[in-house]
Amino acid sequence: MVRVVVLGAGVAGHTAALHLRRLLGTRHKVTVVSPNSHWNWIPSNIWVGVGEMTKEQVVFPLAPIYAKKKIEFVQARAVAIHPNGTKEDPVGSVDVVSTEAGAQGQEQRIHYDFLINATGPKLKFEATEGLGPHGGHTVSVCTADHAVEASRQLDATIARLKSGQRQVLVVGTGHGTCTCEGAAFEYTFNVEHQLREAGVRDKAQLIYLTNEAQLGDFGVDGMAFKQKGFEQSSRMWTESLFTERGVHSILGAHVSKIEPDTIHYETLDGKTWTQHFDFAMLLPPFGGVGLKAYDHDGSDITDQLFAPSGFMKVDADYTAKPYEEWTAADWPKTYEVPGFPRIFAAGIAFAPPHQISRPRKTPNGTMIAPSPPRTGMPSGMIGKSVAQTIVDRIKRGPGAPAHEASMARIGAACVASSGTGMLKGSAAAMTMFPVVPNYQKYPDSHGRNFNGTRGDIGLYGHWVKLMLHYLFIYKAKALPGWQLIPE
Ligand SMILES: Cc1cc2nc3c(=O)[nH]c(=O)nc-3n(C[C@H](O)[C@H](O)[C@H](O)COP(=O)(O)OP(=O)(O)OC[C@H]3O[C@@H](n4cnc5c(N)ncnc54)[C@H](O)[C@@H]3O)c2cc1C
Repeated sequence: MVRVVVLGAGVAGHTAALHLRRLLGTRHKVTVVSPNSHWNWIPSNIWVGVGEMTKEQVVFPLAPIYAKKKIEFVQARAVAIHPNGTKEDPVGSVDVVSTEAGAQGQEQRIHYDFLINATGPKLKFEATEGLGPHGGHTVSVCTADHAVEASRQLDATIARLKSGQRQVLVVGTGHGTCTCEGAAFEYTFNVEHQLREAGVRDKAQLIYLTNEAQLGDFGVDGMAFKQKGFEQSSRMWTESLFTERGVHSILGAHVSKIEPDTIHYETLDGKTWTQHFDFAMLLPPFGGVGLKAYDHDGSDITDQLFAPSGFMKVDADYTAKPYEEWTAADWPKTYEVPGFPRIFAAGIAFAPPHQISRPRKTPNGTMIAPSPPRTGMPSGMIGKSVAQTIVDRIKRGPGAPAHEASMARIGAACVASSGTGMLKGSAAAMTMFPVVPNYQKYPDSHGRNFNGTRGDIGLYGHWVKLMLHYLFIYKAKALPGWQLIPE
């Protein structure tokens, strides 16, 4: 019996675990370790954050699904990996700390033959003083609970607007190195929609504050589209939406500090500014979750497995080089950890080799560099690909070639909601191929293939987004035919 341990039950880890069980049969053991008892369809947190969905609509308990699928579920936080085992016990293992009610804090060592690290991001609110809902002055939509609190504060803001008070609402990124700008963009336009629906749009100033140097960058260096014979860019397209909906933008901003009603930030020209707010949703930067690694003799080998960001080093080219010299080929393909052939990292947990958008420094030396997003579709595809590699190595031996899912060779679809409602809703639907631009292969179309890169905004996008919500929850619940729904 081979033991496969998956750390994390998000998009990448849960997808990997379900495919492992489907492809391996019950002869082998699949264990999932995750601190949360529930699965969360994170993209729909946006709608929880504006009160259009409840928390219960975007989460469900994992234990019954894993019991049905004969996957062992350990509700715990992984803290350390022993890739070469310990002096007493040479088998690879992971130390975990229970988060289960009644067993909280209890430690356990779990042995593995193959390990997938799919622990996603640590939400680094501490990177900016005063950021975030845990003792800070801003809200977040990164977890379902955060989104519930965001909705509560948005309601209070709307109530003040209804009583005739003018309000300033700021949505965006809370640090120069944030990622996931698409989520901030979505929340901006959902808030805008709610303000219009509440009849208070005229009294509210809505500001999108971002580390992107241009609108439409989304941390992927923007996109070029060819539509109706014209070449368009995600920048033109996004600027038009901001103008149409009267949303002001602050670009190329690093937020350095947040006081109860004031955001302090620096822009790319090195100037420093303050912005008053009555309501602010600012995303935190992401880092790895802080796993440690130890050799069999107890020596700390964390830096062999992890980059300084805390993300896991995989088969990417991490050589430091100027932005102009980075290529699509630098991106990982198999997600194996060099030197540790039985360990893989999937989804946000792997360390990207470089930014996709140009990193910039202000004259004061402050980095303003959107980090590469690793959205749901690539995260799921990587989770599945890694599961397939492990299955082949179990069935055909360690020499079986690895499956590949390079973000420089796969596309992604992203549907960014810009307001809900079966008749009044809208969403910006974007597809890009590949996710990581290849400027050598596609020199005339901004590094991507025009055939796979499109953008459109309209009511149908909202219906697609709503359909994806139900489809992905259906898939994650492993209901009949789940495997036919693509990642
Ligand atoms: C507000 C918001 C909106 C988004 N909207 C979209 C969208 O519309 N479309 C899209 O494609 N993407 C969207 N994304 C991005 C998408 O959510 C991520 O790409 C995806 O969740 C990444 O999957 P993952 O498995 O790597 O990480 P996650 O889904 O975050 O999963 C990580 C898992 O690891 C667990 N974990 C954490 N620490 C440990 C530990 N120490 N030990 C064990 N387990 C641990 C967590 O509990 C979780 O189960 C959005 C993100 C945000 C924040």
